[in-house]
Order: sequence, then structure tokens, then C-alpha cells
Amino acid sequence: MSQTSYPVLLTPGPLTTSDRTRHAMLRDWGSWDADFNQITTRIRQRVLDIVHGQATHECVPMQGSGTFSVEATIGTLVPRGDQGGHVLVPNNGAYCARLARICKVLGRKLTTIDYSEAEQVNPADVDRALAADPSITHVALVHCETGAGVLNPLHEVAQVVAKHGRGLIIDAMSAFGAIEIDARQTPFDAVIAASGKCLEGPPGMGFVIVRRSVLEKCEGNAHSLALDLYDQWVYMQKTTQWRFTPPTHIVAALDEAMTQYIEEGSLAARGGRYARNCRALIDGMRALGFRTYLDDELQAPIIVTFHAPADPAYEFKTFYQEVKKRGYILYPGKLTQLETFRVGCIGHFGEAGIPGAVAAVADALKAMGVRQIAATAVAA
Ligand SMILES: *Cc1c(COP(=O)(O)O)cnc(C)c1O
Repeated sequence: MSQTSYPVLLTPGPLTTSDRTRHAMLRDWGSWDADFNQITTRIRQRVLDIVHGQATHECVPMQGSGTFSVEATIGTLVPRGDQGGHVLVPNNGAYCARLARICKVLGRKLTTIDYSEAEQVNPADVDRALAADPSITHVALVHCETGAGVLNPLHEVAQVVAKHGRGLIIDAMSAFGAIEIDARQTPFDAVIAASGKCLEGPPGMGFVIVRRSVLEKCEGNAHSLALDLYDQWVYMQKTTQWRFTPPTHIVAALDEAMTQYIEEGSLAARGGRYARNCRALIDGMRALGFRTYLDDELQAPIIVTFHAPADPAYEFKTFYQEVKKRGYILYPGKLTQLETFRVGCIGHFGEAGIPGAVAAVADALKAMGVRQIAATAVAA
């Protein structure tokens, strides 16, 4: 079955995967089987290669969507509230808010620095907060805030956190494999990512890259049996197997997707392709009259938020259906105050994908009778 018989997903995970990746799911694997466990081992090594972390870090895979891995990381690495764990979350969007919510639900003490969704996290604010409160044990940062699409200054924040001797937990889910994180240059305790984003696998598992010396000290810390990264790691080191039933087909497909990632030219090539997609998307949509929500300097090449057309004939649900009929799946906005929609730049589609999507948007608006795209306030 060919790629073109399905709509192209312009969503930041699940995303469009290749035929090869989907075909890798057409066989069954035993979770005890040595061949399957070799696949797990290979994925763990290749993930460490991406961050140059073989000497210092361990890759611990985890079943579930990306959030399961975020929750496992907070639960395993941050001491419980009554044992002094205290997390600082610089908050500039929906995924930061989710991190904060996880801390609350797990009973870890929480402090936030609040920004608007159109701002970057400022390393100087983190510096000030850590200097003012020595009880903060960890900073949890979202690298690319998928809510609006902002790229946060990870390396600068990591330097600040290291200077204060605290731990850094990075939700790198949306950009892992496309925007560089180098463990030799950027100190971190944990980087969290998932199968169904820039590595272009199907969704269903996450993985956490944890500093070995940190992980070794986490025995008994987790509040949860299933979401215990320490136990998962120890069991996997001992047996090469996952502790509980692995998502076998997803693991096999991610392995195949990572082979293609390496064939393509790894991070530089993947990140370069997404940057070209992002540029073509923004240029094409601006030519139609659309405005981006973010300034270009803050924009990560992962997902772009656009203001909805000002025309009263516009309505997201109809727009979505009209664009879908033309072969592309868009993403609703995630901003609380403004009417927006989002378009992803990531996934396995060729260079024709973005121009095709822009043409579909133009055609859909015409069919809906939408003429005025920019808001009058801006046009005036
Ligand atoms: C996708 C994503 C997650 C995980 O979301 P799930 O729906 O649980 O897979 C977490 N953080 C960010 C920044 C993301 O983009």
C-alpha cells in the first residue's frame, strides 16, 4: 500500500511514517526472544549515539506515550516531597504546564516561573530563582514547547543549572533527533524523548537518557511500580528484556525508522530537512496572508502556530475537513486566549509535502468563501 493513499499528517506526533517503517510492524516478536532483545539493545545504543552520551549516560526505554516517560522520570529522579525534592519549572506553554501538573500529582514540591506562550524561557530568570531558593533540587525544562512552537535556550539554561549544582530534566520529546543535544557540552541528568516524533517511528514508547551516576542512586525512589526507571534499567541490564510486556511492533518499527535516520545522515540531515519544511511553510502561508503567532527568532522548526483568518466565514472544523479532503491533516491550536491552528513540519513526506499543504489550505479557504485572512487591526 503506498504512502499517498493516506492523508499526510502535519501533526507533531503521531506523524507520517515511511512504508519501510510501517512494514516493519508486519511480523510478531516474542518478548523473551534473543532476536527481539537485540533490537532493544540496538535502539538504546543508537539513542545514546545521538547525544554522544555512551560514556556518561544510560538509555532506559519505557512503555506508553511520551508523558508516561516524563512521569517516570520525575517520579524516579526527584526525591519525594517529604524527602526534599523540589522542582523548578520555567513555564511558557502547555507541555511545561503538564510537567508542573505531574510534579503536583506526584507530591513533589513545585515552583514555576511563568511566561506568556509567545516568550522564550530566560536563563537569567532561572539563575535568579536558583540563587534565591537553595531548596530547589531540579529544574525541568521543555526544549521545544510544542504548544506554540517555541524553542527554549537549553544550552544556556543547562549551564546555569550546572553552575548551581542542581539537576536538569529535559522534556526533549518534540525535537529529539532534529535539534542537537550533546551530553559532552550540555550537562543534564535526564533527556526524555519518544518513538513517534522526529525519529519518525510510530507512537507507543518513550525513552529516557539518564546520567548513570544519578540513576544508580534512584533505587526505591519511585512512587510507582510500572513507572520506575531504576527498576526497568536494572532488569534490562540483567536480562536484556523489558520488565513488563514491551510494545514489540513499535520497537521493531522504531529500529527500522532509526536505520533510515542514519541512512539519511542523522541529526544534521533530519534537522536540515525540517528547517527547510518550516521555512517553506512560513513563506508559503505568509504569501497567502497568514500571520505566525511567534517571532521567527523564537520559532523551532517543529510546529508553527498561525492566527486563524479574521473572515467570519472561517471556522476551524470546516477548514480542517476541507484541508483533509485535499490530503493533509492539520492540528488545532493549543493557546488559551487566541483562535489559532498549528501545522507540523516533521514526518516522512517529500519536499513536495509542504507546498502541497499550502496549496490545499489556499484551496480550502476558497471553497469556504474565506477572503480576509489577516486581521483588520494588523492590515490597517
Ligand atoms: C509530544 C510531547 C510530549 C508527550 O506527549 P504524549 O501525548 O504523551 O506522547 C511531551 N512533551 C512535549 C514537548 C511533546 O511535544
